[in-house]
Amino acid sequence: MRQRNKPWADDFLQENSHIVIPNSSSHKNNWHELFGNRNPIHVEIGTGKGQFISEMAKQFPEINFIGIELAKSIIVTAAQKVILSKQPNVLLVNEDAANIIDLFSANEVATIYLNFSDPWPKNRHEKRRLTYHTFLEKYQEILDPLGEIVLKTDNMGLFEYSLMSFSQYGFVLSEVNLDLHSIDDPTNRMTEYEEKFSAKGQPIYRCRASISN
Ligand code: SAM
Repeated sequence: MRQRNKPWADDFLQENSHIVIPNSSSHKNNWHELFGNRNPIHVEIGTGKGQFISEMAKQFPEINFIGIELAKSIIVTAAQKVILSKQPNVLLVNEDAANIIDLFSANEVATIYLNFSDPWPKNRHEKRRLTYHTFLEKYQEILDPLGEIVLKTDNMGLFEYSLMSFSQYGFVLSEVNLDLHSIDDPTNRMTEYEEKFSAKGQPIYRCRASISN
C-alpha cells in the first residue's frame, strides 16, 4: 500500500489514543477491560485503511475487533473510519505483527484475519510473509483452542504458499475457496484491496485454518 508522508499523523494518534491504543503490550491479557466486556476478540493483521474492521464491527457488535497496522500514515485513515463509525467494539494498534505475542496472552484471541497481506514473492523475503512458520507459531500461541485464521488474497502465489505453510505447521484447513465472490456469503465484508482487485475481475481466494479439528 502506498504510504504518503503525513506530518500530522503523530498529533492525530496522540489525540485519538482511545482508538489507536499506545503502549499496547501493557494491555496483554486485559483487553476486555478496555472494551468493558468479555466478548471474544478478533484480530486483523495489516488492517490498512480500515474498511473491513469498521464494517465487521458494525455487523458483529458482540465481537471485539482489534486491527494491527504497521504504517502510521495508513493507520490514521483506519482510525478516521473507526471514529466515524462510532462503534465501541473496535480498537487499533500501530505495531508490527512480528511482536504479536507481546500484545496477547495464550488463548486471548478467537480469530485472526489476514487480508491481502503483502505477498513478498521473492524467496529471500519468505520470512516476511505473514504465513511464514515463525508467524504461525505466534498465532498458535495466542489463539484459543477453537480459534481460527481466515486468510483472503488475490495472490495465487501467497495463497498456495499459505495453504502449504498451514498444513505443514499443524493447522487444519476447513475451507479452501478459489473464487469467493462466486458464492453468496452475506457475512463477507470487503477490504479496500478486495474491492480494487475484484473490480478488475480477479478472483479472490479465501481459506480458513484452525488449530484443531
Ligand atoms: N488489509 C488491507 C486491505 O485488504 O485493503 C491492506 C492490505 S495491504 C496490501 C497490507 C497492509 O499490511 C499494509 O497496510 C501494510 O502496512 C500492513 N502490514 C504489512 N506487514 C505488516 C506487519 N508485519 N504488521 C502489521 N501490518 C503490516
